[in-house]
Amino acid sequence: MPPPPEPIWEQRWHPLREEWVLFTAHRGGRPWIGELKAADVAPDSYDPTCALCPGNQRLGGVNPPYRGVYWFPNDLPCFGSDAPDWSDSQTADDLYRRRPAVGTAEVVCYHPDHAKTMAGLTPAEVTAVVDLWAERTAALAVRPDVNHVLIFENKGSAVGTSNPHPHCQIYAGGLVYGHAVREVESSRRHQARTGEFLGQGILARELAGPRVVAENDAFVACVPWFARYAYEVLVLPRRQLTSLVDLAASERAALASMLREVAIRYDNLWRMPMPYVMAIHQAPTDGGDYAAFPFHVEFHPPLRTPDTLKYLAGPEIGGGSMTNESNPDEKAAELRAAGGPHYKRPSPDPVATPTEPAP
Ligand SMILES: [Zn+2]
Repeated sequence: MPPPPEPIWEQRWHPLREEWVLFTAHRGGRPWIGELKAADVAPDSYDPTCALCPGNQRLGGVNPPYRGVYWFPNDLPCFGSDAPDWSDSQTADDLYRRRPAVGTAEVVCYHPDHAKTMAGLTPAEVTAVVDLWAERTAALAVRPDVNHVLIFENKGSAVGTSNPHPHCQIYAGGLVYGHAVREVESSRRHQARTGEFLGQGILARELAGPRVVAENDAFVACVPWFARYAYEVLVLPRRQLTSLVDLAASERAALASMLREVAIRYDNLWRMPMPYVMAIHQAPTDGGDYAAFPFHVEFHPPLRTPDTLKYLAGPEIGGGSMTNESNPDEKAAELRAAGGPHYKRPSPDPVATPTEPAP
């Protein structure tokens, strides 16, 4: 029996969030009570009860028989263009302030096939998704009621996804989401202090280290040195970019290729569908100067092992700081070893389906 790992009792500075992360890799093997095993049963390609499948009825209408990527306004948006204006009544209390939740929310279906995931799409199909993200970001950014465009995908029941249909969401309103607020501040402070772009500084350190998972001409995927989750992956651009709108067509294709690559490696890791939250971190769109903002994509899988969820509990919810029970160097090596074709699809990629124009 191998000896238990040496305790490291180490804190690492998270340069994007400007906070400490506690690393306790020596405690990673301790007994764990909560368990969760993701089901590896693929749904049918079409589900008559799915609100996202082509031709189906949803709250706001009927989906067209779309054949590629397809978006529509969220039927239950968290922001509304007709949000009540509290401006007359909000002046009374400077502490308990409020403001209208203006803006919009959209849903993007990656593909008509209910059973697919990003890992199962062709490179061209994922590129069509990234192209649409950039297009929607540009269109939403110019709206006066949109200060930030947050694009995210919740994948798997472990992160609360109610519908397995491959899709993501776009939240675009008067709220600049908290991670972006912090990254605006951290990137400005880093540039003022060092003259270096924060994203470039992180990229240089990761390229020099053992945590790169995959790379191509324009993007690098790594488990960052300061990871807060065991299998967290950052997809970093090779050049300073602030948002999807900055990407050239070749870079959008390269980003798509890298996102697909990460999704395939996640599934291959334990030969099961890997749940995750994926979020695109891009600069606010409120007219400020965000030249230093570090555009990147973050994947946060909640699993530590195939059947162990990383619970957010006392230290995280109660204390407000993350504990990572693993060693990012080792997790990156595991994901590097999980390359190659998808475990369920060893044959060559099928021919891409055409892209549907936006409504
Ligand atoms: Zn569906």
